[in-house]
Amino acid sequence: MNIKTKLVLGLGILAGMIVLLVALSIFNLQILTEVEPASPNAPVYLERALLWISVIGVVCIVTGVALLLWLPSSINKTIRKLTDGIVEIANHNYGKRLDTKPNEEFYGVSESFNRMAERLTEYRESILTDILAAKRFLEAIVNSINDPIIGLNNEKEILFINDEALTILNLKREEVIRKSAEELALRNDLLRRLVRELMTPAGNKEPLKIYADNKESYFRTSYIPIQYKDEDKSAVTNLGNIIMLKNITEFKELDTAKTTFISTISHELKTPISAIMMSLKLLEDARIGGLNAEQQQLSASIEENAKRLLDITSELLNITQIENGRLQLRPRITKPIELVQYAIKANQVQADKFNIQIEVDYPEEGKIGKLFVDSEKIAWVLTNLLSNAIRYSKENGRVVIGARQEGDGIEMYVRDFGKGIDPHYHQSIFDRYFRVPGTKIQGSGLGLSISKDFVEAHNGSLTVESELGKGSTFIIRLKK
Ligand code: ADP
Repeated sequence: MNIKTKLVLGLGILAGMIVLLVALSIFNLQILTEVEPASPNAPVYLERALLWISVIGVVCIVTGVALLLWLPSSINKTIRKLTDGIVEIANHNYGKRLDTKPNEEFYGVSESFNRMAERLTEYRESILTDILAAKRFLEAIVNSINDPIIGLNNEKEILFINDEALTILNLKREEVIRKSAEELALRNDLLRRLVRELMTPAGNKEPLKIYADNKESYFRTSYIPIQYKDEDKSAVTNLGNIIMLKNITEFKELDTAKTTFISTISHELKTPISAIMMSLKLLEDARIGGLNAEQQQLSASIEENAKRLLDITSELLNITQIENGRLQLRPRITKPIELVQYAIKANQVQADKFNIQIEVDYPEEGKIGKLFVDSEKIAWVLTNLLSNAIRYSKENGRVVIGARQEGDGIEMYVRDFGKGIDPHYHQSIFDRYFRVPGTKIQGSGLGLSISKDFVEAHNGSLTVESELGKGSTFIIRLKK
C-alpha cells in the first residue's frame, strides 16, 4: 500500500468518524429538544446522548492518534531502507539492492537506486579489469629487465621483485611480496646489505660480489627514490624506493684483463728501460770515450725520457697493485722530516733545471711527533706532490714543503705559487687519468689518484686548496 492510499484511507476513516459524531450529536439534540425537561425520560436521554458523543469522540481521538503514529512510521521505514542502501554504497558495497514492491511508496526511487548500484558495479569491474591489466603489464616490464630490481614502499615492504632478484637473493616470490624487507633481511645476508645501504646512502659503494648459478658475479647497486609529483609539480610525495643491481661482471672481467695486461707490460718494460739508463751512464763515462756537446745533449734528452718512461711504468705498476687489491703496507716508525728530505732529494735536479727554490717549513725538534706509516709509499706521495708543484710552477719560482703537528695527527703539505686549479676540478684531479683541460705539461693523470689511494690506505686524507692564478696547496693528513 503506498503512502497516498494510506493517507486517503486514514483521512477517510477520520472524516467518517467525525461525520458520525456530528450526526449523533444532532440526532441526540433533536430528541432532547422534543422531550419535556420535566419528563422523567429527560435525564435518561441526556445521559445516553452524552455517552454516545463521548464514545464516538474517544474513538475519533484514538483513530486520529493511531493515524498520526502509523503514517510517519510507515514512511520512516522506507526512508531508513533507502538510507541504509546509500551507506552501503558509500562503503563501496556496490552489490547492495533495495527490495521494494511496485505498490510501496518510493518504489521509483528504489528502482533508480538499484539502477545506479548496477552501473557502479559494472564501472568497478571495468576499473578492476583495467588495474589488473596495468599491474600485469608492469610486472611483465619489471620481469623483462635482465638486471635484478626490487621495489619497496616507505614501510620497506617489498611491492615488486623480478625473477633475477629472486635468483640472486635465493628467495621465492610468495615469500617476499608484501613482506617487510627489514624482517626478511634478518635471515638473508645480501638483502641485509641492500637494506643497510638504502638507509645509509653514503655507505660502501664497492661492487657486490655474489656467488650464484655456480659462478661469481659482480653487481653495482643503485637506489632510486619513487616520487609522485602533483600535476602542477608543486608537491612531491615519496612513495618508496627501487633497488637496482646492474650486472657488471663482464666489465669487471675486462677490467681485470686490462689490469693484468698493464701490469705485465709495465713489468716487461722496466727491464729494457733500466738497461737503456745503464747504457747511457756508460756512454757518459769519460773512460769509454768523450762525447761532443751535441752528443751530450742527445744523451741527456734520452736519459730524461727514459726516466720519464720509468716513472710511468712505476705509476702503472702502483695502479695495478691498487686495482688488484694487492696493496700491502709495511708500516714502521718514521720521522716526517725523513720523508720531506727524501722528496726534496728526488726532485732537486728537476727544481734546479727550472731554477725553482724549494723551501722547507718544519717545526723544531720535539714539536712534531713520529708517524707509523709505510714510509716508501708516503715518500712516494710527497715526491709526486713536490714534482707536480715544480712542474706546474713558473721558472725561477718557489715551492714550500712542510709538516706540522695538528692535534693528535700530522699534516704534511706541498705549496706552490703556480697557475692554480679551477675549483670545478678540485675533485676530478684525483680521478684516474684525469688531467685539467688545457694542461700543456706532459703527464699521465695518474699521480694524484695513486697518492690519494696510498694515503687513504693509511686511513689518512689527501686534499687540495687552490685558487686560479695564486697557486695550490696539497695537504696529507695522517694519524700518528
Ligand atoms: P699528471 O701531473 O701526471 O698529469 P696528476 O694526477 O699528478 O697527473 O695530476 C692531475 C692533474 O691535476 C694534472 O694534469 C694537472 O692538470 C693538475 N695538477 C696537479 N697538480 C697541480 C699543481 N700543483 N698545480 C696545477 N695543476 C695541478
